[in-house]
Amino acid sequence: MTEIFDCIIIGGGASGMMASIFAAKNGFNTLILEHNEKLGKKLYITGKGRCNLTNNSSIENHLEHIVTNKKFMYTALNAFSPKMVIDFFTDAGLKLKTERGNRVFPYSNKSSDVINTLIDQMYNFGVRYELNCNIDKVEKKDDLFYIYNTNGIKYTTYRLIVATGGLSYSGTGATSLGYDIARNFGHTIIRPKSALCPIVLKEHTVALNGLSLKNVRLTIILNNGKEFSEFGEMLFTYTSISGPIALELSSQINKYSLNNAIARIDFKPALTYEELDNKFQREFKTFAKKDLRTYIKTLLPNKFCEYFFVRTGLKNIKLADLTKENRHMIINLLKKFDFSIKSLDNINVGIVTSGGVDVKEINSKTCESKLVNNLYFIGEVLDVDALTGGYNLQIAWSTAYLAGNNLKG
Ligand SMILES: Cc1cc2nc3c(=O)[nH]c(=O)nc-3n(C[C@H](O)[C@H](O)[C@H](O)COP(=O)(O)OP(=O)(O)OC[C@H]3O[C@@H](n4cnc5c(N)ncnc54)[C@H](O)[C@@H]3O)c2cc1C
Repeated sequence: MTEIFDCIIIGGGASGMMASIFAAKNGFNTLILEHNEKLGKKLYITGKGRCNLTNNSSIENHLEHIVTNKKFMYTALNAFSPKMVIDFFTDAGLKLKTERGNRVFPYSNKSSDVINTLIDQMYNFGVRYELNCNIDKVEKKDDLFYIYNTNGIKYTTYRLIVATGGLSYSGTGATSLGYDIARNFGHTIIRPKSALCPIVLKEHTVALNGLSLKNVRLTIILNNGKEFSEFGEMLFTYTSISGPIALELSSQINKYSLNNAIARIDFKPALTYEELDNKFQREFKTFAKKDLRTYIKTLLPNKFCEYFFVRTGLKNIKLADLTKENRHMIINLLKKFDFSIKSLDNINVGIVTSGGVDVKEINSKTCESKLVNNLYFIGEVLDVDALTGGYNLQIAWSTAYLAGNNLKG
């Protein structure tokens, strides 16, 4: 006879593993079904292999860093706070450290230690899991969920937790299964979009590939006049801008039309227009015989100089020969160097997916579906996403905790 599980979790990633621990701790006979050959494949690559597992800061700070549906996360973050996550891993024997920006990492710098700690805890509470188990269909008849894998094997459970994650990084096992299950049970799916992803430009930036700009201000100006701005570090690739501030801005603009949108770089955010004008007037006199190309090298990183010089449209004249209009144009370019935005990069390239199961149809105190009894959605499959800094994994842990602790007896 087929075994009937108290709880089955589809997806053995961050949220699935965490939920299984609490479900089993509460006495539920729990099974994880994961289609990869190992658990936590995406967790393994988080934080560049070091896993920035949370942010050691207040719940208010976490809420501020959530881009989509922060209100939904209020109860979850209070129920299993960043401090409780740190205690959970520490008590389980994983030594942690807090770095710049309150980012928490395993002391060993190895994401595999986070995964192994979760697996140890699963083992302690008797969680079972099946790997290479690709689920493609779920049905509910009366009180039971029937879960089918692609080999025709059927699993049966009273309670189902869907922890299949978002669509990004398909190489780590991301699929749309969670959305399909939700849709089949009548849930609304908010269109999945790239978040924390590079911003593709219309201009050719091949010559700038690999160039990192530090202490610049990047502002995205949309067609409707809305502006989003971040200060810090960014990076050019062959076709796009990336790096911390570009990634953060991508999450803020992904719900808007990017028709005629502009990415504007202020190379000298610490100096006002007037301060730059005074500096240039002084230096153009002192270095009157220097040519413009050489002078630009004192203002910008080497790799950007030729690109900037071409944009001025000027000949390589001596500084003494520059007119007042030329000077103002150069200042304008330094403060407002514009690129045209083509689009956000492919959803597969984004670090997280924005969109997913509409949280209006999910109970924020339990993560249970408001439409279907005993069906739960946790982690990135939900329409919740945050900025970088450990906030996305905190969403996974907190929603997992809610589901695992609120399964009905
Ligand atoms: C490169 C990268 C770096 C990141 N770094 C960080 C970081 O340092 N800090 C941070 O907070 N966040 C980080 N994130 C985001 C974070 O990894 C995710 O938000 C988090 O893993 C979401 O957890 P989840 O459990 O919802 O989904 P996942 O961890 O993606 O787990 C979903 C699981 O479901 C399985 N699954 C999917 N479809 C099926 C199916 N049909 N059948 C069976 N199983 C299935 C998948 O194989 C996967 O194991 C990073 C993301 C990426 C891509």
